[in-house]
Amino acid sequence: MHMSTTGRAIVVGAGVAGLTAGYRLREYGYSVTVLEQAPHLGGRMGTVSQGGFRHDLGALWMGGSYQAAVRLLEELGLNSAAIKTSNIFGIYRDGETHRFNSTELDKDLAVTELLSPEAKLRAGALLQDVGAASKHLVADDFSAAQAWDTESARSYALRRLDEELHDYLVEPIVSGMSFTSSDKVSAAMLLFLTKIFVGAMAFNFETGLVALPERLAQDLHVETNARVERVQEDTDRVHVRWRDQTGAERTEQAEVCVVAVQAPLVPGLLPHLTQAQQEYLSTVTYARDVFVHFGVDEPPAEPAWFVLVPQCEHPDLNYVSFDHHRAPGRAPEGKGLMRVGFRNKWCADRWQLDDAGVAANALSTLRAVFPDLADHIEDHQEMAFVGRNEHALLQRGPGDATRLRHFQDGLDPHSRIQLAGDFLSWSVIDAALATGESAARSAHRAVTERQP
Ligand SMILES: Cc1cc2nc3c(=O)[nH]c(=O)nc-3n(C[C@H](O)[C@H](O)[C@H](O)COP(=O)(O)OP(=O)(O)OC[C@H]3O[C@@H](n4cnc5c(N)ncnc54)[C@H](O)[C@@H]3O)c2cc1C
Repeated sequence: MHMSTTGRAIVVGAGVAGLTAGYRLREYGYSVTVLEQAPHLGGRMGTVSQGGFRHDLGALWMGGSYQAAVRLLEELGLNSAAIKTSNIFGIYRDGETHRFNSTELDKDLAVTELLSPEAKLRAGALLQDVGAASKHLVADDFSAAQAWDTESARSYALRRLDEELHDYLVEPIVSGMSFTSSDKVSAAMLLFLTKIFVGAMAFNFETGLVALPERLAQDLHVETNARVERVQEDTDRVHVRWRDQTGAERTEQAEVCVVAVQAPLVPGLLPHLTQAQQEYLSTVTYARDVFVHFGVDEPPAEPAWFVLVPQCEHPDLNYVSFDHHRAPGRAPEGKGLMRVGFRNKWCADRWQLDDAGVAANALSTLRAVFPDLADHIEDHQEMAFVGRNEHALLQRGPGDATRLRHFQDGLDPHSRIQLAGDFLSWSVIDAALATGESAARSAHRAVTERQP
């Protein structure tokens, strides 16, 4: 603990980035208020419970490869609550699901019937490239991956691997973990996602992934239904204007402020940013996500926790997650919970549709690939829950690492207002929380370097 200051800090956004920043600022000695516009904390790491089923609203999975997160969990004493969970995932091809253990992928790839013998021989090149790029694929600095950011994952796969590996390995990995197609994201993203997934033991929390945000928030003052409208700095204060749940305008002052909201929402809050900075933030692209959870009174036979559907097999269905295998506590004893996830266009086309319409569409799309599973859901359904994330996962296309580096170089490291959020790195929990730690450090430094 560094309790050296007694000032006030405000954090905008109670996602994992904002709450990690708040947690660190409290350690520096600030009294911290976190303002969150949603009625619950956690952002894309939130969890809600309904009728005995537990729904993670965004993230599903944390990996042993998450260095910053694993360190933080230990520090918080939360590692004892982290449960090792299933590592079995599947990839669908021609009417069959081929299963792998992500911690024994080398072995499983050698014997799988998903790929032809020729494709298997070429698959080693991907793992070799991940090894070569590894030290530049770091959670807290996406811009370090510039060397692999020059072509799309698709063109990389066709050049370095082959079409079959693209269709049945690269495309499903990219789409399953970024919700968009391999021509829209860079090779750097493919290498990073492969790095964090392959060999990594999966872990989770019985009470939902929100366990981490909740623990970070434990000693902070978190105000929900609090929408921040403006954050401005003068020589010795930051002024924050926000509206409470009645719509009444409120203003607060603080020594420092960390703004941890999704990139396109930042310009509206920070008028002091340059036009180029505002333009950059407004054009950071996220996939939209609409998913459906089906709760059933009997789990289906599938043993994997996650099954990816390649785009060449179906244009819309992206994955099915069997959440009752993913972690304990997601479904009541003896019952099952499945998440059905879709590619970006399906989600965008149904953004305005009501929940009942989305659930009906989801079931008919699922039926096109997994008719038995759709029948099982129809016969055993207890509930359907629809989740939506407008800014779900970042679409890191070729050249984005360079653009991000340029944006970051233009930010003022001495400002009392600092930014955090996954948009400053990769779209994973580990990166988001690392940006929160670094924003808290910079904001605190900005104050201490002004002290006589
Ligand atoms: C469907 C989905 C699946 C995912 N799966 C995984 C996974 O399995 N593993 C993994 O590691 N990562 C996964 N991710 C990514 C991971 O969830 C995110 O990278 C991470 O949670 C982002 O955290 P954040 O704090 O940067 O942003 P957010 O969680 O989005 O937090 C930003 C917060 O700011 C609030 N806010 C916005 N504007 C204002 C305002 N004006 N005033 C006050 N508050 C405001 C928002 O309501 C939000 O709570 C997934 C994401 C999604 C959507």
